[in-house]
Amino acid sequence: MRQSMKRFAVLLAAVLLLCLWLPPAALAETTPEATAQATEEPTEKPKVSAAELQAQGILTVGAKGEDVKKCQQRLKDLGYLNGKVDGQFGGGTKRAVIAFQRRNGLTTDGVAGAETLAKLYAEDAVAAPGEEKVDVLYGDVPILVNKEHLVDEFFIPDDLVLVSEIIKKDLATIKYKKTRGVRTAVEALKTMLEAAKEDGVGKKWQISAGYRSWDDQNNVLNSKINSYKSKNKGWSSSKARRAALKSVAEPGASEHHTGLAFDVNRKGSSSFAGTKNSDWLNQHCWEYGFIIRYEKSKEEITGFVAEPWHIRYVGVEHALYMRDHDLCLEEYIQGIEDGTIVHAGSGSETAEPAAEPDEAAEPDEAEEAAEDGDAA
Ligand SMILES: [Zn+2]
Repeated sequence: MRQSMKRFAVLLAAVLLLCLWLPPAALAETTPEATAQATEEPTEKPKVSAAELQAQGILTVGAKGEDVKKCQQRLKDLGYLNGKVDGQFGGGTKRAVIAFQRRNGLTTDGVAGAETLAKLYAEDAVAAPGEEKVDVLYGDVPILVNKEHLVDEFFIPDDLVLVSEIIKKDLATIKYKKTRGVRTAVEALKTMLEAAKEDGVGKKWQISAGYRSWDDQNNVLNSKINSYKSKNKGWSSSKARRAALKSVAEPGASEHHTGLAFDVNRKGSSSFAGTKNSDWLNQHCWEYGFIIRYEKSKEEITGFVAEPWHIRYVGVEHALYMRDHDLCLEEYIQGIEDGTIVHAGSGSETAEPAAEPDEAAEPDEAEEAAEDGDAA
C-alpha cells in the first residue's frame, strides 16, 4: 500500500532527478529508500506550546531559561553541543539532544523529556566520541554504508584531501571547489582519468560530489524540506520531510560520508547514461579500484536506484572480483560473511558466488573479516 506507492514515486523521482540538473544544494544521492529511516524522526508537532511542555519538565525547541541552560551545559560537557550555553532551546540544542539520544540508545526525537534528562544527568551517560578519524581503508573488507549500515555524525574519514589538489583541470572539472575525498581514492581517480584520456575519452569529465559530512547531508536534506514547504503552503514539516527523503538520503545513509565515493559525470550534459564517458567508466573503472555502486540489475539489493555516475573506491582486487562475479558490494560482503568468498585480496579461489551457503565455512573467520570493514 503505502510502501508500494512510495516505491513508485521513488522510481519516478529518481528518473527525473539526475544529479546534473539538480541545484548544488540538492546534489545529494537520489536515495529514496532512505525514507524508511524517517520513522525515527518526530512525525507530529506537539499541539501544546514549548512553555507548557517545559512546565511539565519536557524541554523542546522554544523552551528557555535555567533548566535549558543546565541541559545545554551538560550536553556541552559531554561533547554534543558546540554552540552557546544561552538558555535558548533552538535547532542546535535539538541536534545535540538527538546526537546524545542516538549514542545512548534512546528514541531520537530531539525532545529532552524525562527519560532523556534522566540519562543525560546520569553518571553512565555516554559522551560523544572525540575527534578520532576513521581509517576507511583499514581491513580486508571494504566499508559498507547503506540504509541499514549508517554512520553517525562523529564519523570522519581519515586523510581527506581537496580533489582539486590532485586532479587538475586538464583531466576533469571539479564542480565544487571544496570537494574532498580520501587521498588514496582521489589518486586512483586521477590515474583512472589519465587512462581515459589515453583511450581518447579525455573530455568533459566532471566531478560533482565527493566526501559529504553529516552536516553537509543534513543541509542538503533541510534545504530540500524547506523548498517543499515554500512550494506547498500548508504542508507540515513532517510531510515535507517525507517528500524530501524520496530524493535525498538521510544523514548517515549516504556512501559519500566515507570519502570513497564520487559522482562523476559529463560537463554540460543533462544526463550521463549512454554518453561516451559513462560507457568508458562502466567498462574500465574496476581496473582502477572503483565499482559502479548502484547498478540497475542490483536495485533490489542495494536499495538504490541505478546511478551510473556514482563510483566507489574499494581497491583493485575487490573491484575486479565484484566485476568478474557480477556482485554488488552487499552481495560481496555477504559472501565473505558466509564464507563462500575468501576475500579477493587473499588471492584464494572461491566457491560459486551464487551457490548455497557453504556449510563447511569457518564462521568465526568470516565474522571477524566482516567486522574489520564495517563502519556501522
Ligand atoms: Zn553519489
